[in-house]
Amino acid sequence: MIHVDGTLDTLYDEVLKRNPGETEFHQAAREVLESLAPVVTKHPEYVDAAVIRRVCEPERQIIFRVPWQDDSGAVQLNRGFRVEFNSALGPYKGGLRFHPSVYLGIVKFLGFEQIFKNSLTGLPIGGGKGGSDFDPKGRSDGEIMRFCQSFMTELYRHIGEYTDVPAGDIGVGGREIGYLFGQYKRITNRYESGVLTGKGITWGGSQVRTEATGYGTVYFLDEMLKTGGQSFDGKRVVVSGSGNVAVYATEKVEQLGGTVVACSDSSGYVVDEKGIDLSLLKDVKEIRRERISAYAEERGAIYVPGGSVWDVPCDIAIPCATQNELDADAADRLIKNGTSYVAEGANMPCTPEAVRLFSDAGVSFAPGKAANAGGVATSALEMQQNASRDSWSFDYTEDRLADIMRGVHDRCLETADEYGSPGDYATGANIAGFIRVANAMLAQGVI
Ligand code: GLU
Repeated sequence: MIHVDGTLDTLYDEVLKRNPGETEFHQAAREVLESLAPVVTKHPEYVDAAVIRRVCEPERQIIFRVPWQDDSGAVQLNRGFRVEFNSALGPYKGGLRFHPSVYLGIVKFLGFEQIFKNSLTGLPIGGGKGGSDFDPKGRSDGEIMRFCQSFMTELYRHIGEYTDVPAGDIGVGGREIGYLFGQYKRITNRYESGVLTGKGITWGGSQVRTEATGYGTVYFLDEMLKTGGQSFDGKRVVVSGSGNVAVYATEKVEQLGGTVVACSDSSGYVVDEKGIDLSLLKDVKEIRRERISAYAEERGAIYVPGGSVWDVPCDIAIPCATQNELDADAADRLIKNGTSYVAEGANMPCTPEAVRLFSDAGVSFAPGKAANAGGVATSALEMQQNASRDSWSFDYTEDRLADIMRGVHDRCLETADEYGSPGDYATGANIAGFIRVANAMLAQGVI
């Protein structure tokens, strides 16, 4: 698949052998390794010091039992994970995902992506990820709290503001971070604000953290549009998902003059030609925690149960749901419908075949590790505020986020240019993200 004297092929074979059955991790590793051929040619020292080989092996992997009692008093059992992947640039940093699909392969793929994403932000954060196969759907507040407390009763011994700083991801938002932080504080008897990010604004959280992933993705897109001499003005946009990333991507698209005409959840999608009504969407999803069909009903919009949101024609597609949600068929339909920009708000939502089709068709494509880096970047800003016992205004924090996203965008393009793939954001992101980590690993010796 990838050459340079077979070195990268051999490394990929080793990833397959050492991590059997972890298909999402294989996919993420392959995608990065495929980009590194020109780096290996230019910098043989990364191979000599086994930097690429070491970067594919997590520094530490923690798997633990999470027992808890449901509202009926029955004992439930889940599995918890934290993969501390790479600490060359700073404490491990990355979210926790609570979803029934979570297993070691998902956590490793997310942790691996996180290394390069965090590096791309230019901030001092390493890469990690965690979570559980716990399914929060339909669970009461009390059940969520007891699960979070049990999860933290093991996790607390592995994390800390200088060690590993978790945050949210799918199924983990402000409510869960609150319960997790409370339990950490109780067990350790420390008000260690910087141990978790995504906290509430009144108790150590940062302005803009809730909005940051969605806003950041749209800032990134705005830079892509400007590079092509365009803007959001009058553009039709389709967003998949209706969670935190989708909601705030929609908000920023609308602020910048575009119209989001469709969004989705795991049971279907909504088409709303007038543009998604954000206050209703936030009410349905964030406050009432209902299905998106309730939005369609109350708004009088079209609801399509079970279909693919990528059937809806658009100029710009922003997949914000989950990994591998946009496959070759969907990419094909988007291309036929004239889509010219795709930016990943979620982690790895486009399959490798879809990405290939976009590239062949000249669709401008931004990978998640660049386009959705605004979330973790703002987490790093939250850590800065916690370390200095300060809190910044919304406008100041948003300016910092916008600045960081411009930096990520430019780093991708400049690196793609330098390594012979002009305009290829995916290659630029992988190489720029890798080089910063690799240089730190070289400097820190064989560890
Ligand atoms: N889960 C988010 C991501 O995929 C954010 C992680 C964080 O803020 O630490 O980047």
